[in-house]
Amino acid sequence: MQSALFHPTMISDPNNPADSTITVLGIPYDLNSSFLRGSALAPERIRQGLFSESANMWTENGIDLGSVSEWKIVNDLDLSQSATAFEDIELAVGELLAKASRVISLGGDHSVTYPVLRAYAEKYSELSILQLDAHPDLYDQLDGNRYSHACPFARIMEEDLAIRLVQVGIRTMTGHQRQQAQRFGVEVIEMGDLNKVDSLAFSGPVYLSLDMDCLDPAFAPGVSHYEPGGLSAREVLTIIQGLKGELVGADIVEYNPERDPQGITSMVAAKLLKEILGRMLAQNPSNN
Ligand code: MN
Ligand code: MN
Repeated sequence: MQSALFHPTMISDPNNPADSTITVLGIPYDLNSSFLRGSALAPERIRQGLFSESANMWTENGIDLGSVSEWKIVNDLDLSQSATAFEDIELAVGELLAKASRVISLGGDHSVTYPVLRAYAEKYSELSILQLDAHPDLYDQLDGNRYSHACPFARIMEEDLAIRLVQVGIRTMTGHQRQQAQRFGVEVIEMGDLNKVDSLAFSGPVYLSLDMDCLDPAFAPGVSHYEPGGLSAREVLTIIQGLKGELVGADIVEYNPERDPQGITSMVAAKLLKEILGRMLAQNPSNN
C-alpha cells in the first residue's frame, strides 16, 4: 500500500471548491514535553497504522480513503533547527491554508498546537476549538517553560487565536488551571460530566485538537501521561462523527510510540485519523 501514501494533489484544480482538499502533515517535535520524550516518533507510526495490511482504508461513513484523491500525505516537517521550530510550523501550516487545503497534523507533543493555531487564526477569525484531553494544558508556565506542552491553550487564549475553547475529557484540573479556565472563558466538560457533550454545538469553523491521553490508558497505553478514567475509543469516535459544526482542521498529539511496543495505540491513532478524514471529506459537496 506504500503507493497510496502520496495522492496527486488537487489543490490547484479549479473545479474543486475552495478548501476541499486535506493535507496530513507530520510534526515530529517533542522538545516541550515535561515528562517523557517520544512523541516526535508518532507521525511515522500513525501512518504505518493507517496503511497496515491488517485493516482496510474505509471510513465508517463509507468513504474509501484509498481511492479518493481529495486528501494527501506530505513529508514530515524538518524541525532539526529546534530554535525556529514554532516559526517553521506556523509557516508551513500557513502555506497549506493559503493554498486552500485544510490540515490534519500528526504527532509531536501538545505544544505544537500553539503555532498551528497561530496559522489558523490568520485565516479564520471566528475559530472555535474542541480540545479532547485528560489535561487542560492551561498552565501559565511549567518548570519555567511558557511553551511547555502543559501551556499551549494559555498562549492560544492570550492571543485571542480562537473565539471559543471547549475542553472535553478533563480529569486533572488544578486550582491554578481552574482560575485560568475562568480567566479565558474556557468551557470545560470534565470526564464526570461527559453527558454534557450531547448538547455541544458549534457555529462557524471548528478546529479539533486531539490529545491521545483523552482516551483511557486501557484503550491507548502509548502515551506519556497515563491518566485513568478516560474516554473509550468509541466515545471519541462518536464525538468526532457527531460533532455539530464544520471541522476545518485537526491535530492528533501526544502519541508516544516508545510506550507502544505492541502497536495498539498506533492503530487507535490511525483509526481516529481515518474518522477525522471521513468526517471532513463528507463535508465536501462532491462526496454527498
Ligand atoms: Mn494535551
Ligand atoms: Mn493530555
